[in-house]
Amino acid sequence: MQEIIKKNMLSIEKSVTGRRGVRFEKALSKAEDLLPADCLRKSRPHLPEMSELDTVRHFTNLSRQNYCLDSHFYPLGSCTMKYNPKAYDVLSNLEGFSLAHPFAPLAGVQGTLELLYNLQELLKEITGLSAFTLQPAAGAHGELTGILTAKSYFKSRGEHQRTEVIVPDTAHGTNPATSNMAGYTVINIKSGPDGCVDKEALQKVLSDKTAVVMLTVPNTVGLFEKDICQIAEMVHAAGALLYMDGANFNALMGVAKPASFGVDMMHLNLHKSFAAPHGGGGPGSGPVGVVAHLAQFLPKPMVEKQGERFVLNTQMPDSLGKMKAFYGNISVCIRAYCFLRQYDGKTLHQVAEQAVLNANYVRVLLKDYFPAFFDAPCMHECVLTLQKEKMNGIRTADIAKRLLDYGFYAPTIYFPLIVPEAMMIEPTETENKEMLDLFVEAMKTIFQEIVSNPQVVHEAPLLQPVKRIDEVSAAREPNLRW
Ligand SMILES: *Cc1c(COP(=O)(O)O)cnc(C)c1O
Repeated sequence: MQEIIKKNMLSIEKSVTGRRGVRFEKALSKAEDLLPADCLRKSRPHLPEMSELDTVRHFTNLSRQNYCLDSHFYPLGSCTMKYNPKAYDVLSNLEGFSLAHPFAPLAGVQGTLELLYNLQELLKEITGLSAFTLQPAAGAHGELTGILTAKSYFKSRGEHQRTEVIVPDTAHGTNPATSNMAGYTVINIKSGPDGCVDKEALQKVLSDKTAVVMLTVPNTVGLFEKDICQIAEMVHAAGALLYMDGANFNALMGVAKPASFGVDMMHLNLHKSFAAPHGGGGPGSGPVGVVAHLAQFLPKPMVEKQGERFVLNTQMPDSLGKMKAFYGNISVCIRAYCFLRQYDGKTLHQVAEQAVLNANYVRVLLKDYFPAFFDAPCMHECVLTLQKEKMNGIRTADIAKRLLDYGFYAPTIYFPLIVPEAMMIEPTETENKEMLDLFVEAMKTIFQEIVSNPQVVHEAPLLQPVKRIDEVSAAREPNLRW
């Protein structure tokens, strides 16, 4: 049987049909009219040709070797790989949206502008903030937009001495990178033993040099900053602004409004918490919301409503300028709008509650096997570690590889950096109990394997098309070409 399958695959790979395309000939005769004779080919290029059926089979078989959300549970912490309804794709592909020309007169794209305006209003509603820009194309891009907004604000006040951004060690890695890129000096502070910001450590570094304090909420160990209201007071007392990295807002949406705990500015990741498929670098959207006194510094143009019409306001003299061509990744905004309309103001909290419940369910069931680094209820993800003495030399990377054999995508590993042998597991709200139980069973089985037969985990994956890569050799002798 194996032999037949092998031959079958070979015949697909070898199949080269010799058919000539009529279109090619036509295109060639046109080119002949346009190009100088010495630039023209004398003969057809030797391009490989395959039948459509063989091509479809080739790519379908390749895609089956991959892990994706449509086929597998994908608990990649911090990335929120949740299921996004296909209906939103259909809606965002409606021709009125997808075929609109970016330079179309505003009268011809009133529907798109209305949707963007309404999305801004919904984002204001769920965060409590006063203004939103939809321009940034990703979370990190939103951070940069936010920090540059703060920079413009302090410049307008003549507070040029504010050259520092404070970032705790539980922040997402993009936070210090962004601050650095915006020209600020990054001041790192260590967290307390509970995994939250150490207020004394924060007080020590706050000064009239501080421009912004950047908090990832929930932080990267999956915990809510329980003292955030006091932290906001401390930040404001120093004359600085509080920035919240809200990329993982699915832990809070419909339950808490960041403006109410003193946040001045934040970004949201529409491609994570809301509803756009991502991964593999697909288009993202990282809208930035701010309190009223920062609105005038946001990127222009802003979508505004004048009477019954929707316009792009380009008359913003204090604006930091443009952060992206045109108005952002509109297809992602459309999906987010659909998502927010589907969960109205009364049911949105269910998303956050389910996301948090699912993460805690996994955390508690795995407690005796892979304990949480901070033993406390978590938000939308749990960060687990290893009981080193029971691990027989097995490390987190081995467990991640073995999970593939059990049919699960691996969690985020070795991040956050403050947790040794970290496994960051984010089930998201769209997985059901049966799937979470299967995942927990797989993790427990791997634990037993570590105790009784660690070699099998050490050599994993054993059932995948690509086996364990020799990472040491790959690093020492990189072969950067095929
Ligand atoms: C994913 C993430 C980011 C970065 O978002 P991108 O869209 O990948 O740029 C920033 N902060 C947190 C907390 C994140 O989870």
